[in-house]
Amino acid sequence: MVRMAEAGAARDVTIIGAGIVGICIAARLAEAGIRVKVIDRTGICAETSSGNAAALAFSEILPLAHKGMVAQVPRWLLDPLGPLAIPPAYLPSLAGWLYRFWRAGSAAKFNQAVAAQTAMMDLARGEWMDLMDASGTRTMLREDGCLELYESVAEHEASRPGWLERERAGIEIHHLAGEEIAQYQPGLSPRFVRAVFVPGWSNVADPAEIGRAIWRYAESLGAQWMQDRVVAVTHKGGQQRLRLESGGEHRTPELVIAAGAWSHRLTAMLGDTIPLEAERGYNTTLPGDAFDLRRQISFPGHGFVISPLATGIRVGGAVEFGGLERQPNFARSKAMLRKAADFLPGLKTEGGKEWMGHRPSLPDSLPVIDASNKPGVWYAFGHGHLGLTQAAATARLIRDLILGQKPAIPLAPFSASRF
Ligand SMILES: Cc1cc2nc3c(=O)[nH]c(=O)nc-3n(C[C@H](O)[C@H](O)[C@H](O)COP(=O)(O)OP(=O)(O)OC[C@H]3O[C@@H](n4cnc5c(N)ncnc54)[C@H](O)[C@@H]3O)c2cc1C
Repeated sequence: MVRMAEAGAARDVTIIGAGIVGICIAARLAEAGIRVKVIDRTGICAETSSGNAAALAFSEILPLAHKGMVAQVPRWLLDPLGPLAIPPAYLPSLAGWLYRFWRAGSAAKFNQAVAAQTAMMDLARGEWMDLMDASGTRTMLREDGCLELYESVAEHEASRPGWLERERAGIEIHHLAGEEIAQYQPGLSPRFVRAVFVPGWSNVADPAEIGRAIWRYAESLGAQWMQDRVVAVTHKGGQQRLRLESGGEHRTPELVIAAGAWSHRLTAMLGDTIPLEAERGYNTTLPGDAFDLRRQISFPGHGFVISPLATGIRVGGAVEFGGLERQPNFARSKAMLRKAADFLPGLKTEGGKEWMGHRPSLPDSLPVIDASNKPGVWYAFGHGHLGLTQAAATARLIRDLILGQKPAIPLAPFSASRF
């Protein structure tokens, strides 16, 4: 720790974005003795990083553009409140992203993405355990695994290639049938005849709470906070100049852009065009006594999950394209809750709180973790469905880059110029 603290001494880094990615980076840089300032327009893990499903999904190594997923798309699009929605008016804006997404499903690109994601997930597990220990948050870790549920033998069989791919990467899984399933989660509808249990899957007690706890750790090491919105970024005279909504200007020699689904707006001002899209997701958080939930359960055919949190039972998922400005359509949260009540007949659906968040998504399901074309600027965003899972690993990699050390894993698959 002492050697690490010396490594970053006399360096100043500003981070735009106090989501889980920006907060983990703040902690890792502050540990290295760097003077850190975090700027966010709302608060600590107050947006997408507050309401996610709380999963450390280390087994999710497959890019979304794979055959099993793409095969479901036509059926999903037919249901206006189903797992996937693309408002027709938004389709022209999305065409380029969808084309890249389709290309990411080719055999060669798929295999490259699996290899990159496998390396990332190996790092992610170790880095989360290390950061939790350093920040005193290991008590928020839940290692109960995850149960994926299938309504037919055919649906389960169709999922097998994906499970085989994970097994090849050394991930332990257990296929279950009939009455075995109730040993992992009692009270399920009998419609679920097959399941897969993934023991290495973990969750955190609450994603917003762990974010706030890691921020307290970063603050204890000297990290500072500024609430403001960055409206413009320029690179001038070897410095980054941030124009703030409050009217002032903030200058910094080094800058990390970790602004989630809004990051591409800032990188464009520095000359880097990155095809980032918002995959909007919805949920409802019910009171903790809504159901005796033993672990996270997921319904891959319906695109949602149910997660046990310290603060309640969270029912959510779905993907809705539609950009950053469109108002939420909470009929989606309600549709998932109705399905959840069918799938868990004892679920109490009263007293829930609805939420919508923006997953920052790139077409190949890999984040951008890279230096910008401007010296002294670094990018850390685009983690899609896996931002909580990969936040600590991203922080480690950004620290490696800033300190000029060899990155813990090869970074070519995560480059900003790969598109
Ligand atoms: C329904 C749902 C379920 C999910 N479940 C999981 C899960 O179980 N596990 C998992 O790993 N991931 C999950 N995710 C994905 C995960 O939540 C995201 O990948 C992650 O939160 C992204 O974190 P971030 O720090 O990159 O962005 P954010 O949390 O969005 O933070 C970015 C911050 O930047 C700020 N910002 C943006 N622009 C500016 C600006 N110009 N000036 C100042 N501040 C700015 C914003 O205010 C925001 O606070 C889920 C997402 C959704 C929607």
